[in-house]
Amino acid sequence: MTKRIVVTGGAGYIGSHVCVELLASGRDILIIDNFSNSHPEAIARIEEIGERNVEVLEADLADASQANSIVERVKAFRADGAIHLAGLKAVGESVVQPARYYQTNIGSALTLLQALEAAGAKSLVFSSSATVYGELNDNPVTEEGRTGATNPYGRTKLYIEEILKDVASADGAWGIVNLRYFNPVGAHSSGRIGEDPNDIPNNLFPFIAQVAVGRREKLSIFGNDYPTRDGTGVRDYIHVVDLAKGHVAALDYLDKDNRGAIDVNLGAGKGYSVLESVAAFKRASNRDIPYEIAPRREGDIAEIYADASKAKKLFGWTAEKDIDAMCADHWRWQRENPEGYRS
Ligand code: UDP
Repeated sequence: MTKRIVVTGGAGYIGSHVCVELLASGRDILIIDNFSNSHPEAIARIEEIGERNVEVLEADLADASQANSIVERVKAFRADGAIHLAGLKAVGESVVQPARYYQTNIGSALTLLQALEAAGAKSLVFSSSATVYGELNDNPVTEEGRTGATNPYGRTKLYIEEILKDVASADGAWGIVNLRYFNPVGAHSSGRIGEDPNDIPNNLFPFIAQVAVGRREKLSIFGNDYPTRDGTGVRDYIHVVDLAKGHVAALDYLDKDNRGAIDVNLGAGKGYSVLESVAAFKRASNRDIPYEIAPRREGDIAEIYADASKAKKLFGWTAEKDIDAMCADHWRWQRENPEGYRS
């Protein structure tokens, strides 16, 4: 069984929630994180919620000079498997700095593979993204949909998926799940961990939350002339705790001796527009969310939501929390930690 799990990027937004669910499932974890876009305080909070200590290695998986010490630590930890979440994730930045994105994201995945090989661990869950689908498919999107990312960030996810498929074809002992996330939002219901963007948030929910708490004046809605029900973009928002549970379900699936590499959507299977999301957040927070209509954001697509039936069939997993729970939990985190982990 995959009892001892390496979690790269374990201090980040999704990673911290994944760590909490892994601890709850009885697994031991080694977090590898360089804290470039995360906060060490998240580790203390994971331990607080999980009521257990975790192992942490502060290291940069993309830095070749650190690879040997990372490999040694993963071996010493006696890892059985890994969840790989470390990487750069800002779409706009990836367009401006493509080489940095390829080097960091692909380099990190390769270093982790090397470490797992050295430890003899052949179970891996990879944090991929629905962005690999681009705008090529009808909704809801299935895993058989055509792939074609529209930016370098998305292509790093797609290329890593392909690398992992090659690894699994070369050695049948590998079991790999590429989890294609839709739009994770919300926070742990304790209000102790949540999303804490370093800069001005790129994503909709952290931006709305910062407007609600008074850190920002107003939301810009990027386009209201899309061919959607109210003209604003439609996305499949999924509660981050549901998403985290999907990772544990993927490991449980690999534990049943399922080998090879597969792609699995993690989404709620339902789309909400920007305006509907703003209205839901307003209800949950009881705060005003001033907004203006701004031009479309380059690279955005009109609408995407998941066919989540494969995860249900293979893992027995479905998203359970609705948009009101997503907003209520996101708001609790924002209200109780207005400046994130620095609060
Ligand atoms: N969006 C917006 N204003 C913002 C951030 C996002 O109107 O400040 C819109 C965006 O155009 C998209 C939706 O909200 O339709 C979700 O955007 P996000 O960046 O969170 O996710 P992604 O586009 O990567 O799916």
